Amino acid sequence: MVLQDILILVLLVAALAIGWWLGQREGKQKVDEASAKPAYFAGINYLLNEEKDEAIDSLISVLEKNSDSVDTHLVLAHMLRRRGEVERAIQIHQNLLLAPDLTVLNKQRINFELAQDYISVGLYDRAESLLLREIENDTGDQKSSFEYLLEIYQDTREWERAIEVSERLISREGVFWRNFWPRPKYLEEKLKHAVSHFYCELALEKFTAGEVRAAKKYLKRALNIDNQSVRANMQLAQLYMSAADYRMAIKCLKLTRWQDPELFPEMLPLLTKCYLQLGDGQGLFDYLKAVMAEIPSSPLVILLGGMITTNEGNDAAIQFIIGELNKRPSLRELDFLLDLIANGSDESIKTIQQVVKGLLHGQHNYRCDNCGFSGTNLHWHCPSCKQWGTIKPNIQLDPMVLSNSATSPHSP
Ligand SMILES: [Zn+2]
Repeated sequence: MVLQDILILVLLVAALAIGWWLGQREGKQKVDEASAKPAYFAGINYLLNEEKDEAIDSLISVLEKNSDSVDTHLVLAHMLRRRGEVERAIQIHQNLLLAPDLTVLNKQRINFELAQDYISVGLYDRAESLLLREIENDTGDQKSSFEYLLEIYQDTREWERAIEVSERLISREGVFWRNFWPRPKYLEEKLKHAVSHFYCELALEKFTAGEVRAAKKYLKRALNIDNQSVRANMQLAQLYMSAADYRMAIKCLKLTRWQDPELFPEMLPLLTKCYLQLGDGQGLFDYLKAVMAEIPSSPLVILLGGMITTNEGNDAAIQFIIGELNKRPSLRELDFLLDLIANGSDESIKTIQQVVKGLLHGQHNYRCDNCGFSGTNLHWHCPSCKQWGTIKPNIQLDPMVLSNSATSPHSP
């Protein structure tokens, strides 16, 4: 309902703009006016009767006869694209480009809108050639052309082109802000972060194709451009593991603890595998205990709890988990504890277990810091807001960032 109201409002504004425009042009295009006015009034009539499709048709026909009203065309076509009627939006934009006496700025605005039409229906080739032409013509807003191109190359997974466009944007930013102090670096940093992910994507492709040397080269580049890239170190570790070089893999995985403590728990399965391959269970246990003292997290508690169960028995593990739960409330740790203490006959524990498992079921393990998108898998590229590296473990499920004193029931 809200969308429909907005639609009607936009149409009304468009219609009123046309009405005003028709009034202003008296004496200049009498023939056009005469043919446009009936369609214009028909459009208003359709609007009043909430016959939106007919209203749009009628208003388009008015616009076709009065092609120098660029803003009204753009509003209407934008609305059509949002409604999913991209073909009609393309038609309006293409017609508009044929209009005589278009200013350079208006031509560029129409071309950007047309590029968005093409991108929205996957006609990437057309959008790309249109944007490259804009860049070649160098008519002004090159930044937007590069940004739309970057969107296309990410959608089509053309990572080398995405890197090239990003680098041009980065150097453009540098030139633009060179006389400013302090120089705003947000966009530059964001682009470098994205480029690092593009190199990781290339590395993944090479690794899958068995080209390990090329994959390693791309991962080094990823770390050169963003030395905080957890992903690059994780992929490097996987690469070393495939060559049975577990010591180098452990070295890469350990670095992620300093790069991003929130993502470190994601490395635990790989770390465990490496240590076990080296037959060094004790080394793993000691390392995890040391990490626990600095950055406790539920996956770490559960992994250690499992190891204590194996080495020292259930009671020791139960005491360990209870100690950790007293420091930070965690549903996952509680679930693990209930599994340890359930002996199959205690109905009350069984009931609590069911409730906890019910609460955990359907919980999303990951959440995007930028848009709030949540899911069960770790994506490096948010499927919703299209940002890189913004998805993190859901800290509501895994309260690793809460300090002990802030949550401990024993604190003063
Ligand atoms: Zn997002």
